Amino acid sequence: MASHTGTGSCLCGTVKYQVDNSAESVLHCHCWMCRKQHGAAFATWAFYPIGRFRLLAGTEALQTYISSEKVGRTFCRECGSSLFFAPPEFPKRLTAVWVAAGTLDGEPGRKPDSHIFVSCKAAWYAITDDLPQSAE
Ligand SMILES: [Zn+2]
Ligand SMILES: [Zn+2]
Repeated sequence: MASHTGTGSCLCGTVKYQVDNSAESVLHCHCWMCRKQHGAAFATWAFYPIGRFRLLAGTEALQTYISSEKVGRTFCRECGSSLFFAPPEFPKRLTAVWVAAGTLDGEPGRKPDSHIFVSCKAAWYAITDDLPQSAE
């Protein structure tokens, strides 16, 4: 696979990050928490293992909402952009991280793999692609 370095940022530009190589997985998540958090029909998350993700700027603007026991959803306090989905200790300790793919400045280097949590899908949204779907 070709090496690929990409950057990402929030809407206001305070938070900047870098990812190395292609995402290892890209998922469209239709769960109700992702829908609420993103204010959208679904969230697209790109997975980067530990060591492939680095914060470049704006760490002080990051705020994390602990949405369940082992998961934090990190956003920019200045502009509200949804950014990361990771264990609650992130970003104090860097971990593997799911990046909100819409905040990448480029592309994740990989096509979306599948739709997940389609059992909670918004009734007003119809999936029209041929990607695999899982209920959870
Ligand atoms: Zn921001
Ligand atoms: Zn979700």
